[in-house]
Amino acid sequence: MSAALHTFPSLTSLRTALSEGKLSATELAQDCLKQIQVQQALNAFVHVDPELTLAQARAADARRVAGTAGPLTGIPIAHKDVFVTQGWRSTAGSNMLKHYVSPFDATVVNKLLQAGCVSLGKLNCDEFAMGSGNEHSAFGPAHNPWDHSCVPGGSSGGSAAAVAARLVLASTGTDTGGSVRQPAALCGISGIKPTYGSVSRYGMIAYGSSLDQAGVMAVAAADLVEMLDTISGFDERDATSAEQCRGVPNAPGRIQGEFSKASAHYTNQGILPLKGLRIGVPSEYFGDGLSSEVATAIEAALTQFEALGAQRVAISLPRTRLSIPAYYVIAPAEASSNLSRYDGVRYGHRSSSYSDLADMSGRSRAEGFGPEVQRRILVGTYVLSHGYYDAYYLQAQRLRRMIADDFQAALTQQCDVIMGPVTPTVAKQIGDHKDDPTADWLADIYTLGLNLAGLPGMSIPCGFGKSGAGKALPIGLQIIGDYFDEGRLLAIAHQYQLATDWHQRSAGQA
Ligand code: GLN
Repeated sequence: MSAALHTFPSLTSLRTALSEGKLSATELAQDCLKQIQVQQALNAFVHVDPELTLAQARAADARRVAGTAGPLTGIPIAHKDVFVTQGWRSTAGSNMLKHYVSPFDATVVNKLLQAGCVSLGKLNCDEFAMGSGNEHSAFGPAHNPWDHSCVPGGSSGGSAAAVAARLVLASTGTDTGGSVRQPAALCGISGIKPTYGSVSRYGMIAYGSSLDQAGVMAVAAADLVEMLDTISGFDERDATSAEQCRGVPNAPGRIQGEFSKASAHYTNQGILPLKGLRIGVPSEYFGDGLSSEVATAIEAALTQFEALGAQRVAISLPRTRLSIPAYYVIAPAEASSNLSRYDGVRYGHRSSSYSDLADMSGRSRAEGFGPEVQRRILVGTYVLSHGYYDAYYLQAQRLRRMIADDFQAALTQQCDVIMGPVTPTVAKQIGDHKDDPTADWLADIYTLGLNLAGLPGMSIPCGFGKSGAGKALPIGLQIIGDYFDEGRLLAIAHQYQLATDWHQRSAGQA
């Protein structure tokens, strides 16, 4: 059997081949490493170390022989470079951490390693996860496999590009304001950002701590289940780890259980799959700025859901527009505090010429941080400063509460899930908003609210638009659920993917 990853349509089929002994984890890893070289132009990976990868692959094969392999043993994955890793460098896409090697693994990395996943390396991302196109990486932009002149989205751009190019079948990402869902949408893959607190942030290089949440990306929703199962659960080393995840027997299995239950409910019980599901469609997600090709694809997806038995409910999330100013005050405020640790003293870049301690710190930060990160630090420091705190930061926190209340009102009184676009347009050309950084901020309109509220959300492929060069570019459908309703989201997405094949198309085959 071929060890080429792209010959497997999904992680599920790869799992079967591995468990039946049709190929070894080592053969598979060797082929993946070769492919990463072949597709170097994508710039999806910022750090590979074949020796480390092959050692993990051999360990996976040994587990298979010993009969101790689990469902993910031998599966090649890769991590966004904001998860710290022993051995591999952990840079957060920044010159500040260019040479940093962590003495420990992030909880997410550790859990996947314990499950037997084989890590192929570290994936490109916007510097400290700040951005929407992977253009703010100190290692240069990652490219969209569907059209190399376009962004793959961001900040988890490398994570999405790697799956879309089938360099891996699953990757980790982080989502502070959309960074799992948005790149998943722009690269035509499936991605989930779980409820805030359900996956440990321990060892995730911080951006906005009250918003940051780890997520996963893969070809299909069904592939995400096992990955999310593995990484979620209470972690006493993360003070914001959700209490709901504590003490649940086999916490990861919780989602698996719900997934099966929901699937059974929607498929086996009845006449019509998804029958009775109430889909809230917020009018604010279909206003000015939404491109006609995205609007058309979302409309078709909603019609498909109706054909499968779901019912559409018109809802309103009246504060949607305000999620942009609220987020772009809160996230930079938290970032300015989190990034104060990079002072040239403890770790990270230190300038080689300086006069005194303050000068050393100033120069190290000026040299280590890129322009977008510096912009966010300036905004964040300003909104937290004496005299402006009440007017900006406190006001933004009030808005945050109202935005969360809007979601709660809809999800408790009107609908089971909410659906809409992830992005207003398909992927833009690299360099398009070079002179106007806030243009990217505005395009985050459909993703930010969810993070402010702490809710789970997904993106799944639902159609195609066209790039400037006339190439097909994917469009994503967003599915938003109530707290800890990831199981239902995955089940709904799975039902849609049983009835459609958008997720099975890979770059070049649309
Ligand atoms: N685009 C948003 C930002 O720049 C979200 C990034 C993220 O989710 N990490 O802050």
